[in-house]
Order: sequence, then C-alpha cells, then structure tokens
Amino acid sequence: MSLADLCESLRNCQQCRLASGRTQVVFGSGNPEASIMFVGEAPGFHEDKQGVPFVGAAGKLLTELLESVGLSRSQIYIANVIKCRPPGNRDPAPDEVETCKPFLLQQIQLIKPHLVCSMGNFATQTLLERKVGITKVHGQPFELADFRLFPLFHPAAALHNDHLLPQLREDFQKLRQLVEAMAAPHQEAAGSATAQPVQMDLF
Ligand code: SF4
Repeated sequence: MSLADLCESLRNCQQCRLASGRTQVVFGSGNPEASIMFVGEAPGFHEDKQGVPFVGAAGKLLTELLESVGLSRSQIYIANVIKCRPPGNRDPAPDEVETCKPFLLQQIQLIKPHLVCSMGNFATQTLLERKVGITKVHGQPFELADFRLFPLFHPAAALHNDHLLPQLREDFQKLRQLVEAMAAPHQEAAGSATAQPVQMDLF
C-alpha cells in the first residue's frame, strides 16, 4: 500500500466516534519521502476546515521554528496521532488514540523517516508507548527500533505558556545538531570526491 492509498482508505473512516463531528479527515502533509517527520496530537478548528495539519497559530509557530533551523515544511512530513478533530478541541480519549494509532504507525512505516519529532504529551507517549511527561523528556533523543524519537513541547503549549517558548527554541537548536549529524556521513563520503559544498541528502 502507498501513502496515497492509505490516505484514500481513511477518507470515510468511521472507526471511532470522532467521525461524527469532523469536517474531514486530516491525514497529513509534506514530503512523503521525508527523513524527518513531525507528529502532533489532533486537528484543531482550522485544520479540520482546511484538511491540513498545523495551519492555525500553532502551525505558524512551527513553520517559523523550522525555518529558524534551516528547514521548510516541504522538506518534512507532518501528521497527528488522531486524524479527526475532537469536539471543542478536547483531549483525545484513550480508546480514540488506540483506534487511530495504527494509521500513524502505518504512515511512519511507509514514509520511513530517520527522525520523528513528537510534539507534546500525546504524541510522545503514543510513540514511546509509556507514560512520560513531556516536561521531563523534551529535547532528549530516544533510539527506537525503526527511528530516533525526538520529543518537543507542542507549539500550541508554547503559545499559551511564555516560559516554554525559549525551551522549544533551544530544543530546535538541538534538532539542528541532530539533522547535521545525520547529514555528516553523506558529507564525508562526497567530500573525498569534490571540494564543492555538499548538498545534504536528507530529504
Ligand atoms: S479519528 Fe482516526 S479512527 Fe477515528 S474516525 Fe478519524 S481516522 Fe478513523
């Protein structure tokens, strides 16, 4: 199955109660061959209307943070744990997470990112498969079976808590270092053959 097939198969998903209140399924967006993936919690009002993740205020902050470390949204892939908006932006219920999680795992299997940045508690706990607080684990990479997980505060949390924004910016600088380390082997290999600046073969 391709990513497009998976997206199509979810277009009319009715597997949990969130189907009844959504405008549309918000599957994900970005480069389907990205080496870096960002995973948030669930669509909000604007995402539900537009069918694209992270297009509201939190999305604008995410775009700015990406650009601050030399990344663009077209280089990465963005998705949420939950594909349909919970009513009133309430927290997803545990059974909703369990029902929708396999689709996120399928997305990850198809995209095959080297690095997955989980944003906030829900995405981090879902991918780590344990109860951990984002306050404790943000900015620390975890080596999982198929990819490296890098937890971050959710941009929406940083918008509502002024003290989190500097920490989020700091974690993005750590992310820049991880990305550069991922690119280093490519640079070394190519550096022996040419003195020209080496294009990062990450995306
Ligand atoms: S939230 Fe996930 S499981 Fe529930 S209806 Fe939407 S796509 Fe299906």
